[in-house]
Amino acid sequence: MSIPQPLNPPVRYLMGPGPSDAHPSVLRAMAAPLVGHLDPTFIHTMNEVKVMLQQLMKTENEMTFLVSAPGSAGMEMCLVNLLEPGDDALICVNGVFGGRMSDIAGRCGANLHTVEAPWGQAIDPVKVKEALETCTPKIVGIVHGETSTGVLQPLEEISEIVHDAGALLVVDAVTSLGGVDVRVDGWQIDALYSGSQKCLSAPPGLSPVTFSTAAMDAASNRKTKVQSWFLDLNLIAGYVTGGAKRAYHHTAPVASIAAMHQALRIVLEEGLEARFARHRQNHERLKAGLADLGISFLVDEDIRLPQLNAVWAPGGCDEARVRSQLLTDYNIEIGAGLGEFAGKAWRIGLMGCSSTPNHVDMLLAALGEIL
Ligand SMILES: *Cc1c(COP(=O)(O)O)cnc(C)c1O
Repeated sequence: MSIPQPLNPPVRYLMGPGPSDAHPSVLRAMAAPLVGHLDPTFIHTMNEVKVMLQQLMKTENEMTFLVSAPGSAGMEMCLVNLLEPGDDALICVNGVFGGRMSDIAGRCGANLHTVEAPWGQAIDPVKVKEALETCTPKIVGIVHGETSTGVLQPLEEISEIVHDAGALLVVDAVTSLGGVDVRVDGWQIDALYSGSQKCLSAPPGLSPVTFSTAAMDAASNRKTKVQSWFLDLNLIAGYVTGGAKRAYHHTAPVASIAAMHQALRIVLEEGLEARFARHRQNHERLKAGLADLGISFLVDEDIRLPQLNAVWAPGGCDEARVRSQLLTDYNIEIGAGLGEFAGKAWRIGLMGCSSTPNHVDMLLAALGEIL
């Protein structure tokens, strides 16, 4: 058997729907010496990560931590703990990730109800209200930043409607967290999950999550066991909130968490407001340059995600060929359209460290040459 050559990945500019470019200091953090996952120094790291996540998410929730798996596992953790067979669940679907949420809710044995909006549009609060007159769900699930379409979903009004109906609000903030404002306590979000590799610019594979007291009560007052051992909040609580007494649950990915620690430091050092403003400014710069190329956005201006720009590929061009040329000739990765937009759209990510004027100008110049 021949031994493969060592890996020698190209240096890409990651401007798709994630992962985004990571700061060199974040990558270096992973090369630090390994410590045990119950080592006092690592427990200190975990405590610092928790406090930084609370600031980022604008919450005082004690149960704020990193799931040792990607964003989809954070989604699954929220749903498998809050739903039991026979519960009603209302999921808002206007793209791929709302669809994934409803798939998981169905697998939990919930009676699934949905509120839909066409791809590229936001969920209408009136429709949520109407749906809540026909069912009494335990949870309402909604995506804040729908990465498949580039829609930024307003949440405040929907949150009020959901709580008036006595349901818990579950929010997907995988793409939104770190790029636009996310107020867990201010918007009364009961369960929220995110991802490490989008606007936080850490390597993929971790999911920041937070749970309100009401959500934790619902998880601990279940009649049946959570079907997933690994994602059971009741079992993991001792590990994530135990302070010095943290008890073994699973072996935490020590190196990835070290990288996340540095990524969160960078976010807070920049300052949340400054970071959101930077994401908006680079989005504006891209928008102006795309207009010069005759490229238009899929989504109405007032609900556009600045960090995920979904645009129509110009008519007559082979969109897959343009993407592949960007990658091979310019080392720039952008995303393809998904679902209804496959073959018709591009998704340009300006997330975290990939949201700079240089990234924007480089992509615009490359696109100009290719087109
Ligand atoms: C990327 C993404 C996910 C899934 O995250 P993974 O880390 O790929 O599992 C879920 N929801 C949204 C909105 C996303 O953008």
